[in-house]
Amino acid sequence: MNNVSQELKNKILKRDNNTCQKCGFTNSNGEGLEVHHIHPKIFAGDEDDLNLVTLCSICHSHAPDNKKDFLEFISDKIDGKILETFRKSDYSISKRTKLGMAASFKQGLHVTRVPKGYRLTDKKLMVDEQEAEQVREIFKEFLETNISLTQLAKKNNITTSGLKKLLKNTTYLGKVKFAKEETLGEHRAIVDEDLFAKVQEKL
Ligand SMILES: [Zn+2]
Repeated sequence: MNNVSQELKNKILKRDNNTCQKCGFTNSNGEGLEVHHIHPKIFAGDEDDLNLVTLCSICHSHAPDNKKDFLEFISDKIDGKILETFRKSDYSISKRTKLGMAASFKQGLHVTRVPKGYRLTDKKLMVDEQEAEQVREIFKEFLETNISLTQLAKKNNITTSGLKKLLKNTTYLGKVKFAKEETLGEHRAIVDEDLFAKVQEKL
């Protein structure tokens, strides 16, 4: 829960000398430090400077939500050194996960749910010919007839929103998407660009 503005965050970090007020962890560039609401925003805690305090991400994630417990928590100082081991693993886990996903993405491997028409083999999307044919039929039927999305969804035993997602899914063009970026994947396209483009228009 960290939704103070960057400007306010900088101000509080500066006031607190870029130092966690519980364990004394310091980082001059602010990385690993959070601005904590003593009285949480949801209980009408405001953005007053006195309601905000610098904590490292570890102390932050363990901080109690109510003020009374929090004041006790923060007055009980601990030595930041004993947290180093957690800080490192915490950092490397999140970094590792991100790096792993980014690497898969760069290699054109699939990182999200497997869409209809494919199955996952050795972390790669392989075309399921039977389902792929069904996907193409759905695209064509939507484009060439006047069937409504609801009817078409019912006919294929999926939800209307599921159908919309399917018709917009660029995976069928052989692309992979991750964190809003798109690249050409290793998997085969199921739907050709022209059909896909026409369906987007009609949608
Ligand atoms: Zn700390």
